[in-house]
Amino acid sequence: MRAVVVGGGVAGPAVGLALHRAGIDAVVLERRAVVDPDEGSYLTLGPNGLDALTPLGVRGPVEAAGFPTRRNVLQGSTGRALGALSLTGTLPGGAALTLKRSRLAAELTTHAARAGVDVRLGAHVGRVGPGVVTLDDGTTVRGDVVIGADGVHSRVRRAIDPTAPAGRYVGLTNFGGITRGTPLADTLPPAAWLLVFGSRAFFGAHPTPDGDVVWFVNVPRARTTPEERAGTSEVRWREHLHELLRDDPGPAAELVAAGRLELAGDNTFDLPHVPTWSRDGMVVVGDAAHAPSPSSGQGASIALEDAVVLAQALRDAPDVTTALATYEHLRRPRVERVVAAGARSGSAKIAGPLGRRVQDLVMPLVLRHVVTDRSTAWMYDHRIDWDARVA
Ligand SMILES: Cc1cc2nc3c(=O)[nH]c(=O)nc-3n(C[C@H](O)[C@H](O)[C@H](O)COP(=O)(O)OP(=O)(O)OC[C@H]3O[C@@H](n4cnc5c(N)ncnc54)[C@H](O)[C@@H]3O)c2cc1C
Repeated sequence: MRAVVVGGGVAGPAVGLALHRAGIDAVVLERRAVVDPDEGSYLTLGPNGLDALTPLGVRGPVEAAGFPTRRNVLQGSTGRALGALSLTGTLPGGAALTLKRSRLAAELTTHAARAGVDVRLGAHVGRVGPGVVTLDDGTTVRGDVVIGADGVHSRVRRAIDPTAPAGRYVGLTNFGGITRGTPLADTLPPAAWLLVFGSRAFFGAHPTPDGDVVWFVNVPRARTTPEERAGTSEVRWREHLHELLRDDPGPAAELVAAGRLELAGDNTFDLPHVPTWSRDGMVVVGDAAHAPSPSSGQGASIALEDAVVLAQALRDAPDVTTALATYEHLRRPRVERVVAAGARSGSAKIAGPLGRRVQDLVMPLVLRHVVTDRSTAWMYDHRIDWDARVA
């Protein structure tokens, strides 16, 4: 069997690696000409996502590329401590890891290519049909199954179902940056994200083992346009962010003023429910099938889980159609639950002034009694047994 994988972000090379382990040939087609490990912002892989890297044989190299994150520490707009949320789950050895999103993609891509997966960069897929995709340069690539790992604006999803929903703008534009060698690193909770529900923007900061601080700002606003992004300098964006953050207590404004932006004006989307995941040997994985809001902190983790389960299904099922139905049956309830949880976290970030005051009162109780390690165990404690036969 041979699989054609469209997209070489997180899910694409992960599918390639998992299929390789299952004894299935794969070609991964990525439109970017280079996979730059240093571009863009950071993400956090949950213990479930890290565990999914084990059958792919890349857990060690990925862990070496990041640093551990044990908790989210939440703070209100008045500086009030709202509580903390463990990110390690309840199983022994559970750990979360923060690293550059692009570094994760680069590690997966390098290891897939090294394992013998046919990874082609600069391969922009223009047309998708059952058993065949066509690149913009006219080249056709054929396989028994076409796997769409092409992100939230997926072309493969539309080829499967032209009426499939598009990604939904979640009302937040994202900025990410780093402040190097700052004494403020020592004021932050160690191995944790400090998350601040600021009066005009949501802010997160994480100290690194090198004494730097990586941070992000989510700004509630209409989406940025390509013209706005092209016409706004890095300095101007930082001035704008500083204005939004300067009245909030804590290190946010100072970190932004002293730092460097690595991601600016990135619109964020989610995709709660895609009615049809597969048709005629075409199927979607990762954000192409179910993008959670970035606030869930789970998008990459569940994309990695998808990759493992899809490869198991193709390994164990008698034919492709049964395999794709099995994959959907095993994955849909879980991923839609993650997306719903992410949508709730995202809406907490865009509360108005009154909402903020209510939040300051209610959130400590919620974190103590409702969103606890036990209540989030279904998300973080999820483990996949590669050797188990799936049916
Ligand atoms: C700001 C932000 C913060 C996030 N934070 C977290 C976090 O903390 N934790 C977490 O787990 N997740 C996080 N996520 C989500 C996570 O990044 C995604 O869920 C994850 O990258 C999904 O992987 P994917 O491979 O499905 O899609 P993508 O990573 O989007 O990859 C899709 C790939 O397909 C390629 N492609 C698209 N169209 C074509 C085409 N026609 N031909 C060829 N190639 C194509 C693209 O170039 C891209 O490389 C965050 C996302 C954002 C935006």
